[in-house]
Amino acid sequence: MDPKTFPVSVWYGANRARAPMFWEIQGEDHKRIRADFQSIRSSGFNTVRLWYDWLTAEKRPDQWDFSGIITLLELSHQAGLKSVIQVYSDSAPNWVESEYPDSLFMDRSGLVIRNQASPGYCTDHPKVREHVGDFYYRLAEVATRFPSFLGWDVWSEPHIVEWSWIDYMKEPWFCFCRHSQNRFRAWLQNRYECDLDHLNRNWYRTYRYWEEVQPPGYISLSTFRDVVDWIHFNTEKIAEDLAWKVDHVKKADPDHVVSSHAAISSVYGMPGIGYGASDDWLLARQVDVWGTSLYPKHTGPWMPLKPHQICVALDATASSCRSAAKPFWVGELQTGDGVTGMRFGESVTAEDVDRWAWRCVSRGATGLHYYAWYPMSCGYEISGFGLCEPDGSVNDRVWSAGNVGRIVSENEDLFMKAKPAQADVAILYNIEAHGSLAGLRVSAATQIRKDMFGFYRVLMELGIPVEFVHLDDIAEGMLAQYRFLYMPSSYVLTERHARRIQEFVARGGTVMADFRVGWMNDQGELSLKIPGMGLDRVFGCYEDDTVDNRDKKIISSHLYGPIPAHEHLSTFIVTDGKSLAEYNGRPVIVKNQYEEGAAYMIGTQIGCVLEEENHSGIRRFLSSAVEDAGIVPYCRSFIRSPEGSDAPYEVRINISDERRIVFVFNDSSEPLTLGLEIPFPLSDFEPVWKNLKTGEERLVQCINGVAKMDLLIEQNETGVYALGKPHYDKEGRV
Ligand SMILES: [Zn+2]
Repeated sequence: MDPKTFPVSVWYGANRARAPMFWEIQGEDHKRIRADFQSIRSSGFNTVRLWYDWLTAEKRPDQWDFSGIITLLELSHQAGLKSVIQVYSDSAPNWVESEYPDSLFMDRSGLVIRNQASPGYCTDHPKVREHVGDFYYRLAEVATRFPSFLGWDVWSEPHIVEWSWIDYMKEPWFCFCRHSQNRFRAWLQNRYECDLDHLNRNWYRTYRYWEEVQPPGYISLSTFRDVVDWIHFNTEKIAEDLAWKVDHVKKADPDHVVSSHAAISSVYGMPGIGYGASDDWLLARQVDVWGTSLYPKHTGPWMPLKPHQICVALDATASSCRSAAKPFWVGELQTGDGVTGMRFGESVTAEDVDRWAWRCVSRGATGLHYYAWYPMSCGYEISGFGLCEPDGSVNDRVWSAGNVGRIVSENEDLFMKAKPAQADVAILYNIEAHGSLAGLRVSAATQIRKDMFGFYRVLMELGIPVEFVHLDDIAEGMLAQYRFLYMPSSYVLTERHARRIQEFVARGGTVMADFRVGWMNDQGELSLKIPGMGLDRVFGCYEDDTVDNRDKKIISSHLYGPIPAHEHLSTFIVTDGKSLAEYNGRPVIVKNQYEEGAAYMIGTQIGCVLEEENHSGIRRFLSSAVEDAGIVPYCRSFIRSPEGSDAPYEVRINISDERRIVFVFNDSSEPLTLGLEIPFPLSDFEPVWKNLKTGEERLVQCINGVAKMDLLIEQNETGVYALGKPHYDKEGRV
């Protein structure tokens, strides 16, 4: 089911409650809530995002109370706002522990979590599952009665354990309770077709019965096939649980869209381990609408996110939606300063709130949900993440966010229909490599993420759109739609995936890979050569040696100058390929012409080098590799003034049958005059260029199907324009 409207909402809790808390609403509170909804509506939002938690709905077993959410649904309807409900089952009532003492989440060490208000209880417990399922069903029965109700988000940032920092557990893995272990055993029986000997051989164990099988709780020297199974189990379990939540809502309410959103795209992290995260591509298939949270100025060492890092997150989530043929919503979009305990993020400005929204829309988002109306009124994030002031008064960020809502509402049809141009370049999301990090005792996917960032930034600077393609989609033949594949740190592969990559290159595609491609298969078994699974023939070389780069080795290239190696350095024996760069005379970058296509093997994580220093030699190397593959930007743009400037900016085009939306992001601190050349083969007349923010219109020159114009864009400004046929009056005048 596709949503019919483009919601631009703000999260709202009555009496300044912060999600997932829901504070009781008294009669005298109605006036304040009405005033808030009036502010939200009049500032430009078309929707309000409400929430309800299991704790509030079932304070005593089987005694249900939905009065609070009914009040908010009524009042938002009266205010002329549509509503979306975020459902929280991880904010859970405490009687559960007395009734079902074996429902507590358990870590690999055997320590349990006594629920406070979160993270709730393990839904692998059959009775907990019944109550939670009932909660979803009953809530859906209530909400579906309201005509202004728009749809659901049934799981915010899916993890096994959420909204809690269990500091007394060291590097926990969840969940090891009796019921989760049973679910794992059932999963294993299916995976090994009830052949316990097969599992024993694979894991190197001597279990006599399935009941004896224990989930792995650490990494041993011998093999990590057990951990790989555990990761696959948890990744699939979260997807099954999402589908289960969707089903319970749909049973009572088949008519409204059901969404969910990740904390951040799964390309940023590790699946199935620790607190438990899943796979966006798998989760997107379980819902009507998939999405992500986006907090570019949160707290922490990675913050604030740079423009290309924001766009990696957005393009990766958008790609997971596209793969599942689902619309893309941004479930949480930052509006106010980040606060976590005593850590404070950079100030969020009105320009940020505007620019982040349009970045999302330029990546195909058709729903924006700003987080949150009020700053957090209590707890670990106290004073953070609010759009309006703590007393409810509005500020320039409110107007900025509301203005996005107004522009979207005025042009809803265009924003719903226009889609980003199809990308020729894909970055591989190799989830098996991300998962195997746990087996290699690496605690985060930092290197792979950096490797993606560096490559993506160069393509973004070239104005070339990039998508992300999942390993499973490669096996399904989805590579055929691309011309260039970048494989960052793809050290796990299977024969099946390798064959698809070989076919892709043989048919004329270009592949670029770095660092130990197919080092091992998806069971953690060493390949006989690296690149593995026969890909040495495609890359025209195989690995000679890999070492840690302790002494900051420099690779020399006669074409691109000296290139610093990253943390590891591999050298190759060249068979059919040609060496483009060497270390101590041994090849490090090898290009091979394989049948109709080309393959580049790079013996260091080249994207990481780019991310750390945006190295000019590597940029030239990547630019020429992309150019050799025949890839050009969809639209041409260049800085006219100031002359010689390399200020960062981005032009993105969304395409509908008759119109183009043009987004221009000036990420620099200087005003830029840009020249734009946008393909517009639809008319033999001059198209109209409309500034959607100001309403100004002008005709632009269109020669041979290319619309040409100059554009002044102020520092840190975001321009949003529509290019389309002129409107004619009755006399035929433009
Ligand atoms: Zn459990």
